[in-house]
Amino acid sequence: MAHRLAVVVPTPAHSSLAGALSYRSEFALAPGTLVRVPLGRREVLGVVWEDDPSGHPERSAAEDKPVTGSLDGIPPLSANWRRLVAFCAGYYQRSLGEVAMAGLPPQLRDLDGVQLGRRLKRPSAPTAAAAGSALNLTPEQDAALLSFEAGNGPFLLFGATGSGKTEVYLQAVQRLLEREPLAQALVMVPEINLTPQLQERFVERFGAGQVVAMNSGMTHPQRLKSWLAAHTGTARIVLGTRMAVFASMPGLKLIVVDEEHDPSYKQQEGARYSARDLAVYRGKLEGAKVLLGSATPSLESWHASEKGRYQRLLMASRVGQGQLPAVRVVDMNLQPKQTVFSTALLQAMQQRIARGEQSLVFLNRRGYAPVLACTACDWKSECPNCSAFRVFHKIDRTLRCHHCGYTERVPRACPVCGNVDIAPVGRGTEQLEEHLGELLADVKQANGDSVRIARMDADSMRLKGALEQQLARMHAGDVDILVGTQMVTKGHDFRRITLVAALNADSALFSSDFRAPERLFGLLMQAAGRAGRDAAQAAASEMWVQTWHPQHPLFAALRRHDYPAFAASQLKEREQAGMPPFGFQALVRAEARTQEAAQAFLQAASAAAQELEGAEQVTLYSAVPMSIQRVANVERAQMLVESASRGALQRFLAAWQPVLRATREKGLIRWAVDVDPLAI
Ligand code: ADP
Ligand code: ZN
Ligand code: ZN
Repeated sequence: MAHRLAVVVPTPAHSSLAGALSYRSEFALAPGTLVRVPLGRREVLGVVWEDDPSGHPERSAAEDKPVTGSLDGIPPLSANWRRLVAFCAGYYQRSLGEVAMAGLPPQLRDLDGVQLGRRLKRPSAPTAAAAGSALNLTPEQDAALLSFEAGNGPFLLFGATGSGKTEVYLQAVQRLLEREPLAQALVMVPEINLTPQLQERFVERFGAGQVVAMNSGMTHPQRLKSWLAAHTGTARIVLGTRMAVFASMPGLKLIVVDEEHDPSYKQQEGARYSARDLAVYRGKLEGAKVLLGSATPSLESWHASEKGRYQRLLMASRVGQGQLPAVRVVDMNLQPKQTVFSTALLQAMQQRIARGEQSLVFLNRRGYAPVLACTACDWKSECPNCSAFRVFHKIDRTLRCHHCGYTERVPRACPVCGNVDIAPVGRGTEQLEEHLGELLADVKQANGDSVRIARMDADSMRLKGALEQQLARMHAGDVDILVGTQMVTKGHDFRRITLVAALNADSALFSSDFRAPERLFGLLMQAAGRAGRDAAQAAASEMWVQTWHPQHPLFAALRRHDYPAFAASQLKEREQAGMPPFGFQALVRAEARTQEAAQAFLQAASAAAQELEGAEQVTLYSAVPMSIQRVANVERAQMLVESASRGALQRFLAAWQPVLRATREKGLIRWAVDVDPLAI
């Protein structure tokens, strides 16, 4: 007798199907079984969702196509994994298939049963935890860990930079693994380039066989290997970026989210999920403890800890004699025009060079890419396809659009007036490095050698191994000044830095995005956190901020390293304005041939929404052009949807989904909903 199965397959994002199609099989297959099924003319990977799809009458039994094969060497995905996927698809308004496939390694699709069997046969045997390399905890770490062990959470570890949060994660994992022989832990970090460093520490502590990584920088075979090790329970620790939140882990008992405030946890395309929020949800689902950690928590998490929904663990001081740096604010209004580095800052850096200490110059890149301009007319290096300027890349003398990728060689002369004097306006890290080199050309190290300046940004780190190499030079003391973007501020445990300087902090102060001050404060605190980590030099460590707005309250809080005060003032403003975490938002974005079409689509969907039940509980704003309005000749518009209740917003979005699907507009290319958007 043939069995009917509901199988989740990779369907389009806004498929009207419930997300599963029915197939028939000669054998009963348990929910969660991975199968291969025909879809159109292709054969695709699918997940058996239910073994009696009576709730999915899209097709009649006679039409059901047969399942082609099942990957029976692989144990079925758990009910909790399927619940997590279903929740994510529902909450973020995407199809089940899209989310399910995003959570599985791509190579599962390509392997046949024999190949898989081979891979499954030789998993590395679990090795015993490498014991005693654990550090003796400080009293603060000890107290935090005790509360963690005693409570249920979710926990918010509010620990200063350098307070030793990683050691707390390590020992929380260690105690769990020792106590429960089948337990697994998931540890998430925001950036791929933080994984090698963390992996090293975990491998050192637990042995290589216990730990696998999961991130988008890995090859497909590597990802499959990690996934299988986690899924079969061989690996007891998974370290990864946001995608790891979907790792199949039958013994999951602990989820750590390091730097939980980091925007990288929000997926920015396709299913725009927040891995941090999903981690909290998953913890509840699986009965796993969730530990969020940060020196500058997101205001959402901080608010939850104020209300007691999250349990706060505090580690206020640095390990050992490490101290947070003194903050110096330079008023740029008092500096000569065109000043990039104030004299006082330059002198402070020279002192470091003389003492053999390191400095870090951090450039806030938002809105600050070097654009080429003509000094005679108004020409700037606009992108012909986008409403954005192309960026000048000195290394290969090209103009590149960072949105559509359109690239051209730098013209010899201004294309409008023929003037040959065209130059970059604004400064990127590359120009900054060069400028600093000129300013310090005559300065010598104590041994008489010239100053060594290095750069670390997305451009210079593109080559494989470049990051490791630069970090190694930094740690070895072969660099005097490191110039870089956000990338240099995150996580790194540099021991010799005693000065951190932030340039161009101001652009975020007056942004249209209400989260900009929160971001800036977090960024500056993180940057400050790179200085003075070594006791011997900590007393002399400094954080320099150059600003045109020295009176801004943000800097007053920064001077005192007072995140709670900053958070309190921001939360008050947010409460008055009904903004997150006091209100809930979604954005609908539309792309079309013309701006009119994009907006007309949104307005039509908005008008139709008024009929829906519960529409009175949400506010639909007018459609507006996105801040970068045109990308690759496509016009973009967005519409904000707000509600005081998360539940009401969710119910409304679910009811609105078919309306959006049914709304037709000539010239419309695509649309998507972003729930809990991070940038407005
Ligand atoms: P955070 O993540 O809170 O910024 P880290 O985990 O990077 O801090 O710790 C800062 C430094 O302190 C690291 O070099 C770490 O090895 C060291 N450290 C942490 N805990 C201890 C401890 N209990 N005893 C000695 N050194 C410690
Ligand atoms: Zn010109
Ligand atoms: Zn472009």
